[in-house]
Amino acid sequence: MHSGTGGRTMNKQKIPSRCVERLSIYRRALLQDRCASGPSIFSHQLAFACRLTAAQVRRDLMLIGYSGSPTTGYEVKRLLSSIGTLIDPPQIREVAIVGMGHLGRAIAAYLANRLPKIRLTAGFDVNPDKIGATFSGVRCHSVQKLAEVVAEKKIGLGILTVPAEHAQAAAEQLVHAGVTGILNFAPVCLHIPSRVSVENIDMTVALEKVAFFACGSSRKKGTIDDHSSTSDIDQTTP
Ligand code: NAD
Repeated sequence: MHSGTGGRTMNKQKIPSRCVERLSIYRRALLQDRCASGPSIFSHQLAFACRLTAAQVRRDLMLIGYSGSPTTGYEVKRLLSSIGTLIDPPQIREVAIVGMGHLGRAIAAYLANRLPKIRLTAGFDVNPDKIGATFSGVRCHSVQKLAEVVAEKKIGLGILTVPAEHAQAAAEQLVHAGVTGILNFAPVCLHIPSRVSVENIDMTVALEKVAFFACGSSRKKGTIDDHSSTSDIDQTTP
């Protein structure tokens, strides 16, 4: 029998970050209906869709307190609900983009209405041509108003898409304004308090890694487990 997860009753700190990434990947695969043709799914089917092992899938789902039946597998609806209970914020989280240039605007367009619990609420820039404009439904404010707008709109997360040389200062501005999580696209290592959660997305590092492993069969790539890097996981996603 399925045992539902008490996602909220679990200690989230005990869930490894790679596991959280994989749970997000499982949910996307389930929602895209790539692997579940019926109301239930077996671990090996989900594993195949996500290029993982069935053992890894079972380990992850056991970690969130969800176990399937040996005869029918996992109930898809309940599995989706269990994953959502664990990884989604309890309330909608407001997000701001700092740097409404090429990447910032592309992210705004991509994220528009994509994640039900994460809402893009404001953009910030220093360029007077962008301040006051609206991009994909997101109004761009002067970065000088960052603290004010972040407080007013209760923004808790920031996406950093400014040039590398401005990233540290912009990150500090976000932190001082009260933001507790930053998704950093600038190719720099940010020095900010450890209470702030930071995820770095560095395309050049990922590309160099692909180039490294692509240029010789003697170089063996790691498997997608808790020891692998985020880019391993990204590679498996659609
Ligand atoms: P861009 O020059 O098009 O945009 C940067 C924007 O940031 C501009 O609108 C600029 O006015 C604004 N800005 C500058 N200083 C600021 C500050 N202090 N506060 C707020 N806004 C400020 O650059 P881009 O191509 O969008 O790249 C942005 C960042 O993302 C860079 O660090 C880049 O290395 C990184 N990145 C870009 C891509 C890409 O495909 N474009 C991919 C990966 C990473």
